[in-house]
Amino acid sequence: MGTMHYLLLCAVIFLPETPAFPIQPRPESWSSIDLERIKGYLDTFFPILAETQHLSIEERIKEMQKFFHLTVTGKLDKETEEIMTMPRCGMPDEGGHQTSPETRKWEKTHLTYKILSYTQDLPRKKVDDAIRRALMVWSDVTPLQFRRVDSGRADIEIRFARRAHGDGSPFDGRGKILAHAFLPGKRRSGDAHFDDDEKWSDVNQDINLFLVAAHEFGHSLGLTHSSDRGSLMYPYYSYQNPKTFTLPEEDKRRIQKLYGKKPSNS
Ligand SMILES: [Zn+2]
Ligand SMILES: [Zn+2]
Repeated sequence: MGTMHYLLLCAVIFLPETPAFPIQPRPESWSSIDLERIKGYLDTFFPILAETQHLSIEERIKEMQKFFHLTVTGKLDKETEEIMTMPRCGMPDEGGHQTSPETRKWEKTHLTYKILSYTQDLPRKKVDDAIRRALMVWSDVTPLQFRRVDSGRADIEIRFARRAHGDGSPFDGRGKILAHAFLPGKRRSGDAHFDDDEKWSDVNQDINLFLVAAHEFGHSLGLTHSSDRGSLMYPYYSYQNPKTFTLPEEDKRRIQKLYGKKPSNS
């Protein structure tokens, strides 16, 4: 809040020497806390790549603002602050700098999944159901089929975990990062992890498990984030009724580009 106020002051009233105004740092020299916060956010979600390593912090903020269709200011303004604190997926957004245009996908259509651990927030049956329906979001529009297994290895291994949980991407307690998943073709390919410090629900309260799981399985199948606010693969959580949920056109087009349409006779 304080940040926004002095940004406005500096922009509108350019009288830094006037004693009536408390002396505030110029936007170019943010407090070290703000700088650390924005850097932390960018390093997590817009990691520095070969093409972006020369960019200044302002330029990196601009890249992020462009991705989210915010006003491109290169500054830590109110809109940017807000988006940084909203609950979201832990996977990076990558912006327009995807190094490898190679697509990652499964080379088979019949995939197995396994639920390794549960949350205490919901009865097991409700977790099973949310996971099954979240996978159906994708199998309804592609030739993909999912089968649950209880022993041995599975293509998509699902678990709830807190903080550091052995994959180098620790969760962060309640809020902000809700879950993450691994794209096909690499280590832990397809696996999806849910932050158990969140409060999970099957209704419009706290964080709806079905909606987050449907998003995460998009990653498990090879989709990266979309900057389209209306898409399921948009990185931020927003509630909609799971009972009337239909996969937005953009996500449908993207997943069908990878796997094709669902055969009409199945
Ligand atoms: Zn995501
Ligand atoms: Zn994980």
